[in-house]
Amino acid sequence: MTRIAILGSTGSIGTQALDICRRHPDRFRVTALTARGSREKLFEQIREFRPETAGLTEGIAPEEIPEDLRGIQWVSGPGTLETVARYAEADQVLVSVVGIAGLESVTAALEAGKQVLLANKEALVTGGHLVTDLVRRMGKPLLPVDSEHSAIFQCLQAAGGNTPAKLLLTASGGPFRTWDRERIRTATREEALRHPNWSMGAKITVDSASMFNKGLEIMEARWLFDMTEDRIEVVVHPESIVHSAVVFRDGAVLAQLGVPDMRIPIAYAMTWPERAETGVEPPDLTALGKLTFEKPDEEKFPALKLARQCLRAGGAACTVFNGANEAAVAAFLRGEIAFGEITERVQRALDRLSGLPADSLEEIREADRLAREV
Ligand code: MG
Repeated sequence: MTRIAILGSTGSIGTQALDICRRHPDRFRVTALTARGSREKLFEQIREFRPETAGLTEGIAPEEIPEDLRGIQWVSGPGTLETVARYAEADQVLVSVVGIAGLESVTAALEAGKQVLLANKEALVTGGHLVTDLVRRMGKPLLPVDSEHSAIFQCLQAAGGNTPAKLLLTASGGPFRTWDRERIRTATREEALRHPNWSMGAKITVDSASMFNKGLEIMEARWLFDMTEDRIEVVVHPESIVHSAVVFRDGAVLAQLGVPDMRIPIAYAMTWPERAETGVEPPDLTALGKLTFEKPDEEKFPALKLARQCLRAGGAACTVFNGANEAAVAAFLRGEIAFGEITERVQRALDRLSGLPADSLEEIREADRLAREV
């Protein structure tokens, strides 16, 4: 029986991970669940999965906890994620919270010797060097949940120890792939939230439309697979069937295919190195007929270029890229700024702050705070 703690259990990844637990009750026992503010949904999950620990990062007063749920251990307010990541009785910790809060969750879980299933990009984007140092010391691999990185990880499992020459990170191109620059600049909230293939949370859906998501994923891949950015190529693949690929020195390319359904990468991380039934059907290749690939347009989607610049700059540049983008996307979702202004604001933050250091959690937090402020 694998004991699993899920940080961010009411979000898109968390609920799908619980779906896998529901399918394999003989294999997984859910020992801890946390949410940010979705109380009712969390209460429902607790009633179904009966964890020993529950947490609400936005806080909850004892009298607000429903009577039937008072018998378990509650953690609430700031520090919830770190406490649960460190002290929950769990073999695996799935970190599926959004934002830089993931960094402290991941380091706490690793320090406590737990297997981390990583569905949070920010931990590696902002603290990749700290996290990978810890992973090396603790001797357990970080298991990626992000579909592209899971695809690369799956290909590497089949590579027999051969090191890749290059990684091909696929991107759907998002809803604005065929739009011109001016139309993208003034795109509305509704248009940005209409992703052609994947159903995800609002922040990541906007990031897919701007391709900031792919910029963050280049950073994530850099740390997960120890590859410099010049060996990570982005390939636009609108059908989202090839989830990424690895190129070897002999010219061979291994790719992982599947329909766009996060339950496959989530379950793979949960059951690695085995595979378990997920309820997802394999793609019907003859029905699909053809798969297409194109080069990304870096003029229309400057996030890719910016991300590479940040990786080359080092220090806190990637943290600034991430923090400024998160704040700008929130402003866009509140209807305060135009879609095209997201990039402008990130650029402005980088101009001012990219020279900041990022040698410790404190420095990373400070760079993140300043980036949001700009
Ligand atoms: Mg992804």
